[in-house]
Amino acid sequence: SLNQSLAELNGDINVSFEFFPPATEEMETLLWNSIQRLQPLQPKFVSVTYGANSGVRDRTHGVIERIQKETNLVAAPHLTLVDASDEELLQLAKNYWNSGIRNIVALRGDLPEGSAKPTRFAADLVRLLRSVADFDISVAAYPEVHPDAANAQADLVNLKRKIDAGASRAITQFFFDIEAYLRFRDRCVAAGIDVEIVPGILPVTNFKQLKRFAGMTNVNLPGWLHQQFDGLDEDPSTRSLVGASVAIDMVKVLSREGVKDFHFYTLNRAELTYAICHILGVRPKAAQ
Ligand code: FAD
Repeated sequence: SLNQSLAELNGDINVSFEFFPPATEEMETLLWNSIQRLQPLQPKFVSVTYGANSGVRDRTHGVIERIQKETNLVAAPHLTLVDASDEELLQLAKNYWNSGIRNIVALRGDLPEGSAKPTRFAADLVRLLRSVADFDISVAAYPEVHPDAANAQADLVNLKRKIDAGASRAITQFFFDIEAYLRFRDRCVAAGIDVEIVPGILPVTNFKQLKRFAGMTNVNLPGWLHQQFDGLDEDPSTRSLVGASVAIDMVKVLSREGVKDFHFYTLNRAELTYAICHILGVRPKAAQ
């Protein structure tokens, strides 16, 4: 049965949590409360996004430094190459390595509107990082195809390039179409991509915002999902219960399909992620 297979997987599950640098004092409090709440779950790493083109790089470094100083978590900064020269990136990588950072999430970053066709891609950043030191590198993958890709096959070949350049796992864009993820994972295997394709799980608390974001990123929001959140725009507490239910159903199916690594887009909130981890059998160390 489903419950049995989840129980059998207990202890085998690896989780990682993604945060973003807070913009206000209030958001800062939320972030650190969430980090404290999630810390006992002993994630493999926690990552902090990097705001390309928006002047928030220093804030990423600040959050990473504080995680290193005040917790025993493995901190993984995201790094994008769109608005930095190779020299700058080399220096950043050296600084990170010297300050004890071993894990990096390497991305191209989104291009500013109206910019020319890019000539550098995430694979170049992976290569650059590996030329500096033996980083553990995660890269992005897109089960429903990246919006700039010529086609699905070209996008898959690009992922292969990133792995061949030295990345050790792929983390997917969030998705709700589980079949799309499973088909993508099969295609990765068929293409000789032999690293974990870690599903990026987005526990939904704000469906309105999600609709905007999904459109920009080519992520399909299936009819059943619309239906679940229908009529709840003014009802955040019910929305949050529904969001938990949706995500819990998803991780149950995924773990039944053999997924053992999960990445959570926490949006700096702990509650839903904590509950989903609990269901997966990921418990605070002291309570085991
Ligand atoms: P790439 O792998 O370089 O791919 C970009 C596009 O170019 C794809 O369509 C690919 O098929 C195509 N391509 C690659 N190589 C070539 C080539 N040689 N010729 C032609 N086309 C090519 N953004 C941020 O700004 N900050 C973050 O912290 C951040 N974190 C993220 C975390 C995750 C897990 C994910 C999934 C995304 C994240 N992003 C972040 C968004 C990401 O930066 C964008 O999706 C960006 O548009 C693509 O980044 P990439 O690393 O996937 O790029």
